[in-house]
Amino acid sequence: MNRPIRILFSSLSILIVIAVLSTQSACPNAHAAKFTDNDFQEQRLAMVESQIMERGVKDRSVIEAMMAVPRHKFVSENYLNRAYDDSPLPIGYGQTISQPYIVAYMTEILNLNKNSRVLEVGTGSGYQAAILSPIVKQVYTIEIIPELAKSAAVRLKDLGYHNVEVAIGDGYFGWNKYAPFDAIIVTAAAGHIPPPLIEMLKNNGRMVIPVGGSFLIQNLILVTKDKDGNVTTRNLIPVRFVPLTGRHN
Ligand code: SAM
Repeated sequence: MNRPIRILFSSLSILIVIAVLSTQSACPNAHAAKFTDNDFQEQRLAMVESQIMERGVKDRSVIEAMMAVPRHKFVSENYLNRAYDDSPLPIGYGQTISQPYIVAYMTEILNLNKNSRVLEVGTGSGYQAAILSPIVKQVYTIEIIPELAKSAAVRLKDLGYHNVEVAIGDGYFGWNKYAPFDAIIVTAAAGHIPPPLIEMLKNNGRMVIPVGGSFLIQNLILVTKDKDGNVTTRNLIPVRFVPLTGRHN
C-alpha cells in the first residue's frame, strides 16, 4: 500500500474506534441524552393539563406542586421517556411510583395547608412526599424496603425537599414520635384500615388509604375524624395499588 492510502486507512480506523467508543459510553445515558430540561417541563405541563386539571383536580397548591416537581428525577434511567405518562411505573423491588393523577387526587382530598403535618406510608421513590413538601409544613414518610427508603431520602435531600423526614419501618404502626398528624396518606393497599393510623389522626384530620386485596377490587377510602374524634369513612374511587406488606396481619 502506498503511503497516502495507508494514512487514509489508519485515520479511518481511528475514527471508527472513536465512534464505537463514544456510542458505547453514551448507551447507559441514551434516554437521558434525548431530553433537555425544557422537554421535561413541556411534558410536565401537558401532564398537568390533560391528566390532572381536565379530570377535575382544582386545588391551586396541588396543581402548582405537580407542575414544579421534576417527576423524571424519581424514575429510573430506563423509564425516563415515560416519566410523564398517564400510568404508574416500576421503581424496582416490585414496587411502583403511582400514576400522576392518583398522586394529585389523593393530595387534594386531604385538604392540606401550610400548617399541616402529614404522615405518608409507602415512600417508594419519594415522589408523593415531594409533591406534599411545598404544600405543607412537614412530611414524615415511612418505607418498609430499606433500599428504597435510603435512596428516596438521598434524592429528596439532593432536590432540596428539606421538610421531609424518611424512616425505614412498617407504616402500619404509624410513627409514634411525631403523632398525631393532620393528615395521613397511605400509598399501598391495606386489607383493612390500620387502627394505629386512626389513633394517630388528629381530630378534624383526614386519611386517604386504598383498601382491598392484591388481586381483588381495591377502593380508595377517605377516613375523617370530626372535632370530637368520631370517625367516618367514605368510598371514593376504585384503584389498583401494590399491597401494604409487613407482619402486622
Ligand atoms: N408513594 C410512592 C411514590 O411516590 O413513589 C409510591 C408508593 S408504592 C405504590 C407503595 C410503597 O409502599 C412501596 O414502596 C412499598 O415498599 C411500600 N410499602 C408497602 N408496605 C409497607 C408498609 N407496611 N410500611 C411502609 N411502606 C410500605
